Amino acid sequence: MGGVFGITSWEDCITDLFYGTDYHSHLGTKRGGLAVRREDGFVRVIHNIENAQFRSKFDQDIEQMHSWSGIGVISDFDNQPILIRSHLGDYAIVAVGAIKNADRLARDAFKSRRLHLSEIHGSGINQTELAAMLINQEESFESGIQNLQDSIEGSCSLLILTEKGIYAARDKYGRTPIVLGKKAGNYAVTSETCAFPNLEFDVERYLGPGEVVFITPEGYEQRKAPGDRLQICSFLWVYYGYPASSYEAINVEDTRNRCGAYLARRNPVKIDFVAGIPDSGVGHGLGYAAEAGLPFKRPFVKYTPTWARSFMPQNQNVRDLVARMKLIPIKDLINGKKFLFCEDSIVRGTQLQDTVRRLYDFGALEVHMRPACPPLVYGCKFLNFSVSRSEMDLAARRAIREVEGEYIQDLSDYTREGTAKYNAMEERIRQRLNLTTLKYQRLEDLVAAIGLPKEKLCTYCWDGVELE
Ligand code: SF4
Repeated sequence: MGGVFGITSWEDCITDLFYGTDYHSHLGTKRGGLAVRREDGFVRVIHNIENAQFRSKFDQDIEQMHSWSGIGVISDFDNQPILIRSHLGDYAIVAVGAIKNADRLARDAFKSRRLHLSEIHGSGINQTELAAMLINQEESFESGIQNLQDSIEGSCSLLILTEKGIYAARDKYGRTPIVLGKKAGNYAVTSETCAFPNLEFDVERYLGPGEVVFITPEGYEQRKAPGDRLQICSFLWVYYGYPASSYEAINVEDTRNRCGAYLARRNPVKIDFVAGIPDSGVGHGLGYAAEAGLPFKRPFVKYTPTWARSFMPQNQNVRDLVARMKLIPIKDLINGKKFLFCEDSIVRGTQLQDTVRRLYDFGALEVHMRPACPPLVYGCKFLNFSVSRSEMDLAARRAIREVEGEYIQDLSDYTREGTAKYNAMEERIRQRLNLTTLKYQRLEDLVAAIGLPKEKLCTYCWDGVELE
């Protein structure tokens, strides 16, 4: 996934840039990067943050980066920011999203024999550099960004730091957010609004899909009006957004509370208490408990002093080990009890299987599960949401294969809650996880909990519906 932050100011703003970027650390585990514009040119620093937090890697660097404008990124993939010298001038660029047709776009560009890419990202293409190449093909940043948005499959939101200010561009269908903030003498742009309160920024406006603005310390200008088709990622609210953030002016924690309340209204059970799998399951669990009039307890606690980050390493074995090590069960709360867990989602289900087994080992009598979203049937096509998620590894897809006995193309019956096939799939997953009951959130309830019309939300991973 990843997140970006940028700021222009009348005074040195490196501290705000440092903390503003750091507040995106829940969105990526691979790379952190900062770029600033100074009188003597651009300064850029990129660090590997796989085994250390962003702040500990950059706290020395920022001493050399005092500046009045800068951009930062937390990236799960590419090295960023990229510094570019082109006919548009010198600039630095950061981007989030996924360019799914990157190989084809690069091949087409190479045919001219005048274009090349210099950042090698493993065996793949550095998508931020590719974005810059597409921008450089036009006569202005505005038309270049338009060329980028029209050429790519997937999504790309970005910030461009120039000598005069910062371009902020939200992806064509607004799958990822870009939000403009303001405080006296400063403008900032961010993926996550949780970066704003402690830096004393107020939200100025949420950019619309495909909108482009140019910010300077004096203000901002709209350089491209928003399009009329919004497809913001629903998973932002369910799982990977930070509780203190808002998208389209709708807060994440509030939405999770509403998700839990919807879950509580359907399929009630007799239990001793409600819990949530940390971190994002907690907001859903609190909403469930409040609606059901039941106590909320923490039979697992997260060991935050060293396991502070919510995303995990890409290697599955390491990820499973980390998942186990950072949650500590409390036997006194578990032994002899019947309880219900809210979870943001069930992806593969392997970690959850281990978690449930441990709860029974510690004496749980019944373990009920209520995921805050419907079964994940399709992998994400629009964001680099998780590279390790192969569609056929999804718990729902494995269950479908078991029900059908073979691979099938038409999955529509499995995406509609209440059909015989849906019920059979849900029951397979329940059995595999050894849960007392399992009831997924209905898509209509998830949409109602977010509060935007369904047609403005991307719900592809649950129902396979995409913009025509
Ligand atoms: S497919 Fe799922 S994860 Fe991807 S943008 Fe849509 S809702 Fe988000």
